[in-house]
Amino acid sequence: MNALEVRDVAFAYGPRQALQAVDFSVAPGSFAALLGPNGAGKSTLIALLTRLYDLQQGDIRVLGSSLRQQPRQALAQLGVVFQQSTLDLDLSVEQNLRYHAALHGLARRAAQARIDEELARQQLAERRHEKLRALNGGHRRRVEIARALLHRPRLLLLDEASAGLDPASRLALNRHVRALCRADGLTVLWTTHLLDEVEQDDDLLILNRGRLVAQGPARRLGAGDADLAATFARLTAEVSP
Ligand code: ADP
Repeated sequence: MNALEVRDVAFAYGPRQALQAVDFSVAPGSFAALLGPNGAGKSTLIALLTRLYDLQQGDIRVLGSSLRQQPRQALAQLGVVFQQSTLDLDLSVEQNLRYHAALHGLARRAAQARIDEELARQQLAERRHEKLRALNGGHRRRVEIARALLHRPRLLLLDEASAGLDPASRLALNRHVRALCRADGLTVLWTTHLLDEVEQDDDLLILNRGRLVAQGPARRLGAGDADLAATFARLTAEVSP
């Protein structure tokens, strides 16, 4: 069973077509990089995956459950890190996580056990009593990842999670998520517009102007970084009218 199946998905904002005939699947335990320039439709796809928007066409299955027919089961398997942070800067790391767990109906004891586990896994245990405001951007992102994983989802979606970080923190975050993926068999869908966040072993999905223009192992789409850059530039080039 695939971790994610997107079948013939299309979406329009009024007259503006944002996604068209988008069709792909992601195998369990893989790191899929959804790459596309600004405006390609990445956030729209994430909004559909998380049911922020209702599907207009096609269907999406998460670990076999259809978003249309079994939305609760499908969403229970999903953890999401949105582009815009929703952490409270004036609460501590732990308070942020507790607040989220309470919102989602996790019993107090069970929640504390999960929080301890996730903070250790994200190497944040020693920062637990610090206010979010005291953490750098990369660590704040890790708190969001911990929060997204509290209910033990099998598929983690990250929408431009590295946006706004300096280059070193960006790559550190990217490596950190890859390590989680390898260690726990978590499936990751990592969206970005930055080519240097893609590695040769990734399942690469290239989105441009609402269409999937390439998909497959990154190494097949470009043997070296330079080749991949050329492929990306060619596939996402503006078509002259
Ligand atoms: P990306 O995340 O890849 O930058 P988006 O999904 O944000 O792309 O946008 C895809 C297309 O949909 C773009 O042409 C964008 O202008 C348009 N779009 C996005 N959100 C809205 C909206 N709320 N209303 C109208 N058009 C939108």
